[in-house]
Amino acid sequence: MSTGTADTDETRVTADEQSDDHETEPESALETARRQLEHAAVHLDVDPGVIERLKHPTTVHRVAVPLERDDGSVEVFTGYRAQHDDVRGPYKGGLRFHPHVSEEECVGLSMWMTWKCAVMDLPFGGGKGGVVVDPKALSDGEKERLTRRFAEELRKFVGPKKDIPAPDMGTNSQTMAWFMDAYSMQEGETVPGVVTGKPPVVGGTEGREEAPGRSVAIVVREAAEYYDYDLDGLTVAVQGYGSVGANAARLLDEWGADVVSVSDTGGAVYDADGLDTHSIPSFSEEPNAVTGYAAETDGADLLDDGNDILTLDVDVLIPAAVGNVITADNAADVRANIVVEGANGPTTFAADEMLAERGVHVIPDILANAGGVTVSYFEWLQDINRRTWTLEQVQTELESEMLSAWNDVRQEVEARDITWRDAAYVVALGRIAEAKSVRGLWP
Ligand code: GLU
Repeated sequence: MSTGTADTDETRVTADEQSDDHETEPESALETARRQLEHAAVHLDVDPGVIERLKHPTTVHRVAVPLERDDGSVEVFTGYRAQHDDVRGPYKGGLRFHPHVSEEECVGLSMWMTWKCAVMDLPFGGGKGGVVVDPKALSDGEKERLTRRFAEELRKFVGPKKDIPAPDMGTNSQTMAWFMDAYSMQEGETVPGVVTGKPPVVGGTEGREEAPGRSVAIVVREAAEYYDYDLDGLTVAVQGYGSVGANAARLLDEWGADVVSVSDTGGAVYDADGLDTHSIPSFSEEPNAVTGYAAETDGADLLDDGNDILTLDVDVLIPAAVGNVITADNAADVRANIVVEGANGPTTFAADEMLAERGVHVIPDILANAGGVTVSYFEWLQDINRRTWTLEQVQTELESEMLSAWNDVRQEVEARDITWRDAAYVVALGRIAEAKSVRGLWP
């Protein structure tokens, strides 16, 4: 377990511990995703053949990515692109550069993207990919060459109507600009819609970077109202001060909540009166700044163990760092009444059941952090229509998409008396199954 910080949209779910034993933790993203699917499917009258198909990705592309290092030597990295399901539209999802990237992890994360896009009612399916590499060990030039060669290896499989990658862990808007350029040079035309999360000057959109954190904050606000908490003075702890955590924390702080604790890989800071979230640099602004803030600020203390942030007595806990942090080992100690998942897969299947039994409301990742892919959709719309939206337009549309998805999921929670995760799956699976049913199985 770690208090690590997600420096891009998304966070890591370790896959190397994958096991067939359902009682063994931590689980791989794929194992968790399949168990969640089975768990939710019982609430829906869906053809079992559809559920069976959804347990498997359509394709996983595995490519070798040779890189000439700065010293002239050649190293070969492995890259993947998992394409889970495209019944509702092109595959969509991030590309990560991380040493723990694996085929199973990409498949599990691509399944979550399928559900996420369906919960949000976006015309996309699910994809995810990455390169098994530590980007911190590469120079900028090496990162650029690696990205361009990876784009070339994936060129046949991606495109604005086929599969649209985006930034993820270890990648960012610059990576997307290189990817888009490499693809465009080979296609003989500028194709901004092949990826999202680009810098605005080359077809990116305003508001994309902050979008996952903003959607987490919107969901916290709605959940607080639903469970009769006043947003003013709501106590919140945020694990991970990367893009998702910092943006969520700062918005909630602006809206009157008391963000009493935040953490990064260096540790967790606590102030019962609420932290000044804007004066704590996010991970991309200054890595591991939380410890420095604690040392310099009266009333702000470092927790003995950074992981203690997960068990603080707060109204809302936002795990926004890495996957598999709330496990069977600590779920009984979680004291928050509401958990809003900023990271992908922060709660293991067993922990989820324990929290549900204890009456802790867990609002799942596929709803809470879906602002990222939703604003990616806005970016893609702008690219294919050659139009530019203002930041205000993006924020207004995101707010309305989030409220609509929240209400769809809430209705299932109320109608079926199920958890928020099962309800989000019910909404997503209902849409996917209906699309599969009307399209039919070919041939
Ligand atoms: N990586 C992000 C996620 O997990 C966004 C993907 C995208 O924008 O396509 O939702």
